[in-house]
Amino acid sequence: MGEFELIRQYFMPLARLHGSPSVIVGPGDDCAIQRIPAGFDLVFSIDTLVEGVHFPFHYRPDYLGWRALAAAASDLAAMGADPACFTLALTLPEANESWLRDFSAGLGKAAESFGLVLAGGDTTRGPLALSLQVHGLVPHGEAIRRSGAIPGDLIVVSGTLGDAGAALDYLDVQSASADEAFVLSRYHYPRPKLTLGAALRNIATAAIDVSDGLLADLGHILEASSVGASVERTRVPVSAALTRLKGRKARDYALNSGDDYELCATISEAKWAEATVSLKQQLTVIGVVEPARGLRLDGAAVVLNSEVSESEMSGSNAGGFDHFRRKS
Ligand code: ADP
Ligand code: MG
Repeated sequence: MGEFELIRQYFMPLARLHGSPSVIVGPGDDCAIQRIPAGFDLVFSIDTLVEGVHFPFHYRPDYLGWRALAAAASDLAAMGADPACFTLALTLPEANESWLRDFSAGLGKAAESFGLVLAGGDTTRGPLALSLQVHGLVPHGEAIRRSGAIPGDLIVVSGTLGDAGAALDYLDVQSASADEAFVLSRYHYPRPKLTLGAALRNIATAAIDVSDGLLADLGHILEASSVGASVERTRVPVSAALTRLKGRKARDYALNSGDDYELCATISEAKWAEATVSLKQQLTVIGVVEPARGLRLDGAAVVLNSEVSESEMSGSNAGGFDHFRRKS
């Protein structure tokens, strides 16, 4: 099967899904065209996934399609952007039709579910890797940045944390228990918090998605905002399934493991008091922003990755994933 036939058969259908009306030319020309509506900012981000680094070798292609787009869309959620479209650069070792069918099915389900239409891409041969660029829209000036946290703001997180990280322990389990199946589905089918992110516009002072681990990702907000914070360990929300599987270790997963794609945001006390019941139900307060730099967990200083040089790295840092930091 040739490159163009492959694109026509497996990827063109994803260009015909209901997506943003702002995409006026999709795949097939030299470029796609997106018309930015008056009064909106274009918010965009690219994510690359390499086999054996970001997903396991021989990972199920339908899971891969879903996870890749979910991870990319999660960055739009973190900025409070409404999803519009995406492009896909796919590098494949061979044109394996059953792999392509399952991959495009998983990707298509995610595209439909998140409201992201495929606007174009690039297809090449080589070791399996994919890059997805996502485009979203926000009313002018309303994107939520990492840099807006102010001392006194409450720190909130959505959903429960640690499930996807714990799932890595069960990827090879043959017949998973109900709890194992729950955390595995959190890993294979993450749901970016797009609606919640948009609802936090003009409410949150800063936000980030939890892709590398809560402490590490909250650390990025603190750094960008030149502030510190105190977090209470027992307030960090964990699922009943994770607690049953990991007991007292459940919160270590919730604090340090990634891949959950929940949101962490900061909100002033006044805005929190005014927030709707529905918004409050989706969020848990875990701590408070403080003027003194650094992150304190139950009063004890946490060493963030960004604060230590490689030679100083110890086992007790805040974790998080950094490709260019050698493991000790
Ligand atoms: P060019 O050589 O002009 O860069 P390509 O041959 O790479 O164009 O791609 C032809 C068309 O097919 C483009 O519109 C491109 O966006 C689209 N395309 C290529 N690969 C993919 C893909 N994996 N998914 C969606 N569209 C794709
Ligand atoms: Mg061209």
